[in-house]
Amino acid sequence: MYKRKDFRITQKQLEYVLGKEWEFFKTKILTNCFCHKCGLPGNSTVINYEIFINYLNDTIFRGYCKKCDGPLARYTETGENEEISKRITEIV
Ligand SMILES: [Zn+2]
Repeated sequence: MYKRKDFRITQKQLEYVLGKEWEFFKTKILTNCFCHKCGLPGNSTVINYEIFINYLNDTIFRGYCKKCDGPLARYTETGENEEISKRITEIV
C-alpha cells in the first residue's frame, strides 16, 4: 500500500473536515491527552498544535502540554469515520 506523506492542514480545514464533530474534539479530545511528563492518561490538554493527516486519514495534533509545556501529540482515528474521511480526501 502506498503511504502518502503526512499532510499538514489548517485549523479552518480541520473544522471543515470534522463538521459537527469539531465541538466534540475541542471539548473531549484535545483536553484528554496523555503527557508522559505529567503522568496519568487523559490528564492534559494539547495547545499550540499543528494538525497533520496521515495516510490512513487519521489526524495527529502535534503541540504542547498545557500544564508542563512539554511536547505532546494526540492521535485520533478520523480515518475510521466515513464522513470525516470523505471530507479529508477532498482536501489532501
Ligand atoms: Zn505535561
